[in-house]
Amino acid sequence: IFKDVTQGLPIEVFSVNKQYLDDPASTKVNLTIGAYRTNDGKPWVLPVVRKTEKSLAEDDTLNHEYLPVLGLEEFTSAATKMLLGGDSKPLLKGMTFGIQSLSGTGALRIGAAFLKTHLNRNVVYISNPSWENHQMLFRHTGFEKIESYRYWDEKNKSIDFEGLRSDLENAPENAVIVLHACAHNPTGCDPTQEQWIEISNIVKKKKLFPFFDCAYQGFASGNLGKDSWAVRYFANEGHELFCAQSFAKNFGLYNERVGNLTVVVNDKEKIKAVQSQFQLIVRGMYSNPPCHGARIVSAVLNNEGCFEEWQSAITEMSGRIIKMRKGLRERLEAKTKPGAWKHVTDQIGMFSYTGLNVEQIEILKKKYNIYMLSSGRINICGLNTNNLDYVANAIADVVGP
Ligand code: PMP
Repeated sequence: IFKDVTQGLPIEVFSVNKQYLDDPASTKVNLTIGAYRTNDGKPWVLPVVRKTEKSLAEDDTLNHEYLPVLGLEEFTSAATKMLLGGDSKPLLKGMTFGIQSLSGTGALRIGAAFLKTHLNRNVVYISNPSWENHQMLFRHTGFEKIESYRYWDEKNKSIDFEGLRSDLENAPENAVIVLHACAHNPTGCDPTQEQWIEISNIVKKKKLFPFFDCAYQGFASGNLGKDSWAVRYFANEGHELFCAQSFAKNFGLYNERVGNLTVVVNDKEKIKAVQSQFQLIVRGMYSNPPCHGARIVSAVLNNEGCFEEWQSAITEMSGRIIKMRKGLRERLEAKTKPGAWKHVTDQIGMFSYTGLNVEQIEILKKKYNIYMLSSGRINICGLNTNNLDYVANAIADVVGP
């Protein structure tokens, strides 16, 4: 029965991560997978998450009954408010709701399924480059055309806004446009507010459907409102939109699969119908979501004291990343061309798109046991005060003076 099944391509981020794990070298450095690490190179359970888990474990009133198909209401409403802000026009008018999802990926997947099945959308535009899963996800949903819009200016190591503008201007009406809400993965470069306003105007004029992907709220600037500025602006401008939210990075809840799909519509009379169709999509896909992670996020977002503790954990994570960016740039510029590494500190979020090429990346792996994606994307969280000199020296060696 299985004789014609061929070997699938490896998923790069997991296979390079496995190579790292299997490497016995004591000097090895992992700059691949997008997960936070402490200065000791360890995963971090946020103190407020640990505290909340303990109190949930002792709460005898809780049980393991199924959640509703669309998830825990106190979680989805808090998540939607965290994204759009309490003063959001559509939120105050009751034109928004959230659907609990299997982390950010699950939110993208059910959103894509709705767009395909109920809004007859078949064309999606994804930034080039983008998180590699975007393409596969829309392909699996049955989108007929997966297109890309220009995003990265290789020469200046910044956004190719001219290219982006022209590609969106030329996209066909009704196309879905995937927009990274903040901390663009993999480039770490976001549009400015003026550029977002232009994008909003094009999306409106061309009748495109904005599908935001917000996987790093709090990680870009440390400020929730600043990091979701674009989504808030679009919503206040009257766009109908989807936004996939992930709580993997900002709560450190990677394997708990906590996500929310925020939906903004203009006609609140349609919300019940839209929700009913989402219910059927979820029912046919995985029936209903898991509870543990959503309970934690809900408990934190809905309690002022816990919320403050969470904010300080975010500040700690984003602060450490900024320090590592600075440290890497200083060390590289001391050994190579001054000014050549400005992009490392200009870029924001977890990642830096270094500009290293495939040969250099191969040498870094073989000679120095430093692992990163073949695109040259590095996870800054893999750097710490113990390995910063080692990594900078190795990069300087492969790049040359
Ligand atoms: N979108 C982007 C841009 C991402 O980088 C990620 C995580 N790597 C996700 C979505 C989804 O992550 P998760 O499903 O773990 O929330």
